[in-house]
Amino acid sequence: MPLCYVCNDIMPIIAALNHKEMSSTVLIPENDPMGRAIYEYHKYGKAEDVIVHSSMFDDDVIPVETLFRTFDQMPALEQKALELASGDILDVGAGSGCHSLALKEMGKSSVAVEISPLAVEVMKDRGVDARLVNFYDSSFTETYDTVLMLMNGTGIIGNLDNIHMFFSRIRQILKPGGSLLIDSSDLRYLFEEEDGSLMIDLADDYYGLVDFQMQYKDSLGEPFDWLYLDFNTLSYYAEECGFNAEIVEEGEYYDYLAKLTPKS
Ligand code: SAH
Repeated sequence: MPLCYVCNDIMPIIAALNHKEMSSTVLIPENDPMGRAIYEYHKYGKAEDVIVHSSMFDDDVIPVETLFRTFDQMPALEQKALELASGDILDVGAGSGCHSLALKEMGKSSVAVEISPLAVEVMKDRGVDARLVNFYDSSFTETYDTVLMLMNGTGIIGNLDNIHMFFSRIRQILKPGGSLLIDSSDLRYLFEEEDGSLMIDLADDYYGLVDFQMQYKDSLGEPFDWLYLDFNTLSYYAEECGFNAEIVEEGEYYDYLAKLTPKS
């Protein structure tokens, strides 16, 4: 199965965030190809595709309208996450605000955080309570009952070195009894042989670690790491960090929605 299958159908991607500057960085418009695409699509009703470069795969594209999907156009995993979300909800890496808008239609209220100033402007214009905030910025001290990270949400972890920091940040943000709903794809199928064995070199980095660089027209973003986590690896680290992890629903393409809840 080619990678474009992942990009177009499961809609992974994005985060113009260099993991080395994780904690408080937000983007500037000159360095924000996804935000520019979202902005132009919102303003003019059309936009060119976002091009996704990676040192590991051929170029792929994200049609911008997929970032504006309605509830009915969302994959079942995302619909399930929106149905389960309750109380005060935080939509992390909200993009055009599609999940927050769907929640609003369901009578639920959410706050959306984004590092893209252009995406935040669009979300505000669409009636979303959006803030220009990096998820890792600890000066953002609000707490929530549900944290949503959707569209291969584990990507925001960046790489496995960040995973303890990620879980401690989630613990800070969740209210007592709250939980994180996060989705990902297991990239193992890219390495699977016909007999089902895996062609993975154990000396290499974890197989779900991908580098991306986004381009929209002449705007080229900074390269960034994006982590696709299989559920076993996610639950291994969840356990280590004191969280219960369960699969809520599995998709058709090695993708899943997980619910993570602090143990106490
Ligand atoms: N959730 C949206 C957009 C997914 S793309 C959807 O499903 O359509 C991922 C988004 O996360 C990008 O818009 C990127 O700007 C944002 N992002 C990446 N890292 C972030 C961080 N640390 N804090 C907040 N937003 C982040």
